[in-house]
Amino acid sequence: MAKYKGRILFVLAGALLIIIWDFIYYFVLQYSFNLQVDLLFGTLILFIGYYTGKNYDESNETVSAISKSEEKIKRLNEELHLVLQNITEVVFHTNSKGEFQFLNHSWEELTGYSIKESIHKNALHFISLHERHEFLRVLRRSISEQKEKTKIDFSFQTRSGQFRWGEVNIKLNYDENGELAGTVGTISDITERIHNEEELLEMNETLAIESQKLSVAGQLAAGIAHEVRNPLTSINGFLQLLRDDADEKTREYLEIVFSEIKRIELVLSELLILAKPQSVTYKRINIVETLDHVAKLLNTNAILYNIEIQTAFKQRDLYIRGDENQLKQVFINLVKNAIEAMPHGGNIMIEAGLNEYNKVELSFKDEGIGMKKQILDKLGEPFFTTKTKGTGLGLTICLRILRDHSADISVQSEQGEGTTFSIKFEAAHQQERKKREQTQKVW
Ligand code: ADP
Ligand code: MG
Repeated sequence: MAKYKGRILFVLAGALLIIIWDFIYYFVLQYSFNLQVDLLFGTLILFIGYYTGKNYDESNETVSAISKSEEKIKRLNEELHLVLQNITEVVFHTNSKGEFQFLNHSWEELTGYSIKESIHKNALHFISLHERHEFLRVLRRSISEQKEKTKIDFSFQTRSGQFRWGEVNIKLNYDENGELAGTVGTISDITERIHNEEELLEMNETLAIESQKLSVAGQLAAGIAHEVRNPLTSINGFLQLLRDDADEKTREYLEIVFSEIKRIELVLSELLILAKPQSVTYKRINIVETLDHVAKLLNTNAILYNIEIQTAFKQRDLYIRGDENQLKQVFINLVKNAIEAMPHGGNIMIEAGLNEYNKVELSFKDEGIGMKKQILDKLGEPFFTTKTKGTGLGLTICLRILRDHSADISVQSEQGEGTTFSIKFEAAHQQERKKREQTQKVW
């Protein structure tokens, strides 16, 4: 109805005008009735009224449409502003020379520099001196290849002198001649991620060194183990004979001696695994089946401690080359450690699948006590244990076997949260292909 307001009002006004005009013309001035002139005049007035009303309505509509879209633009602007100021990433815009034209609020939080003092400054100014060269190189290459997007990691110093790491995602805009017109992009703070990666790298390097040391220590230990085992067997045998004729008290003591001998035997048998076992046969094995087997084997034991071993395999068949018995030993050691780390029960998750690099990746995740840095640093050292009844050889054996399989092991642990051991193997077909290529080269 409001849409036709002008038309209705102007037509009504026209009709009123006709009535007044007719009244004056016929009643006051007493002219004789002329239908033709009257009709013509009436139609003309109504037509003019309608047309003026229509124009009025239309201009009214345009004005309200304009004010509506203005309001919409204002609202959109406000929303954009809100998003830009509340986003944790820095959002920036530079001109073709790399000078900041726009920066959002996060810039101040990330760098400590105010937006006011940073705007119109060259972005390179904020990157660590020793990295500017590399940064420029990557950027120039992207521009010369007319790339639309590029991502660069860089370090920078905050206003207070702290070193931090950022990851910048840049969208490069070009003009019609293919020249750089400017950039827009985001910067995120990746300091924590880089620190974690560095720590992990350091830890895994230590693990690798440990496993090197082991090859020597292992051989030595195995030699001693062999030597000790034989006399121990005869001591054990003779003590058993003595037990038969012993009195109550001596029997009690002998029980203690036997339990200690058992412990020595346990340590010796673990030491022996450290040296190359007698029969190692490397063949194609489906690691999923092996893991399934180990999980089933240990589940009955785990249930006693209120622990459930769960498995999640992304593929049913994952082939690697290795010695099944040795690998079982590794998995059993890892699961046993996980069980021992969960005195109050919980879940152990064993996962397997192909990772993004087409490697067979296994993980053993527990919800146990976790480890602090001092323990993580010592992990894999022979005889390092935090348990009263531990031998400190379980992980040493794992490292040794995995090294022989050219597999990588890494660990992530959070105190009070749990631990995850991950192992990466080369897939069987890739290892076999490499081998084929090597033999071809030799020929
Ligand atoms: P042991 O189990 O005989 O102590 P290991 O070599 O298997 O020897 O383990 C060495 C040490 O590493 C353990 O004593 C324990 O402190 C730590 N550890 C290993 N695995 C875990 C785990 N899943 N959770 C917490 N700590 C662990
Ligand atoms: Mg152990």
